[in-house]
Amino acid sequence: MNLPLAPHPLPGTEPVLERWMSGPRFGGLPLPEGGSPAPALSFEFFPPKTEALETQLWACIRRLETLSPRFVSVTYGAGGSTRERTHATVIRIVKETSLIPAAHLTCMGADRGEIDEIAARYWEGGVRHIVALRGDLPPGVEDVGANGYQSAVELVEGLRRVADFEISVAAYPEIHPRAASPQADLDNLKRKLDAGATRAITQAFFDSDTYLHFLDRCLAAGITAPIVPGILPVTNFAQARKFADLTGTIIPDWMARMFEGLDEDPETRRMVSLVIAAEQVRLLQANGVDEFHFYTLNRPDLTYAIAHILGVRPQVPAA
Ligand SMILES: Cc1cc2nc3c(=O)[nH]c(=O)nc-3n(C[C@H](O)[C@H](O)[C@H](O)COP(=O)(O)OP(=O)(O)OC[C@H]3O[C@@H](n4cnc5c(N)ncnc54)[C@H](O)[C@@H]3O)c2cc1C
Repeated sequence: MNLPLAPHPLPGTEPVLERWMSGPRFGGLPLPEGGSPAPALSFEFFPPKTEALETQLWACIRRLETLSPRFVSVTYGAGGSTRERTHATVIRIVKETSLIPAAHLTCMGADRGEIDEIAARYWEGGVRHIVALRGDLPPGVEDVGANGYQSAVELVEGLRRVADFEISVAAYPEIHPRAASPQADLDNLKRKLDAGATRAITQAFFDSDTYLHFLDRCLAAGITAPIVPGILPVTNFAQARKFADLTGTIIPDWMARMFEGLDEDPETRRMVSLVIAAEQVRLLQANGVDEFHFYTLNRPDLTYAIAHILGVRPQVPAA
């Protein structure tokens, strides 16, 4: 059956949640003409601990740089444990690549002055985008310190006072495990956006319906900023289960079945992983989503392949 393709709305305008929700519900595979335009991508990396991991990260950055992502982000270890490594990685991206970096910054366990200083240092180093997060205290520690920003909302407000940063924040389609209620979590997201963030990136999820329902709830709450889906291609299913337990993410039964019997077979796991993630992004794309954030885990291959399936092609020759 050949379904007529609806024209994609408003090419070239900034993606907003409203456009995703009112855009075509069914899109063809990416085609030079008539199909969905290639989506905007962003890639997340973590700062390396060793020289070998640094080499791996930079090979990953160089490969994914060719896909001209909208931005790339570098995580910040809990409680600021990677402060210098995150800074060094972000600044090297500014200096040595064509990429636009976003520095993750968490506020738990640090004084406001300290956080403001880190942000000012980023601004002086040419960094214009921060992923602003509350972060978590180490297990068992509840004292957040009186002088610190107490939440991501306060951090966003603080960053706005430091400089004119572009600010992204976190969103939880499956509700943050410590949120008082789903509504409180949604209100909190809206407050972060109202305080000056322009985009939310979601926690990784595997059940796309949950995310699409979350978009409905965001729209009903008056949120119009993009709620960019965080895509985690899973190759290590045991690790994914641990992540899901910590974050309250549902692992659908079908997904567990797909990885059944593959514990000792990494090669097949990778292929299965590619199929799962590719199906997930295609389903979201068919529902109008035109921006994706990839948790790369500093490995480029799956992300590169999924981006290719989405219609993204290299824009610059590989270095
Ligand atoms: C895209 C993305 C990137 C991330 N990057 C990092 C990173 O680089 N480094 C890192 O350490 N973490 C990172 N995280 C994890 C994040 O720091 C945690 O999920 C943290 O618990 C909440 O941060 P937030 O900015 O969403 O907080 P907020 O927006 O302040 O809170 C989110 C929700 O959680 C509730 N909540 C959070 N903590 C508590 C608490 N202690 N008690 C009661 N309610 C609470 C709030 O009420 C609210 O409903 C990331 C998460 C996402 C989705």
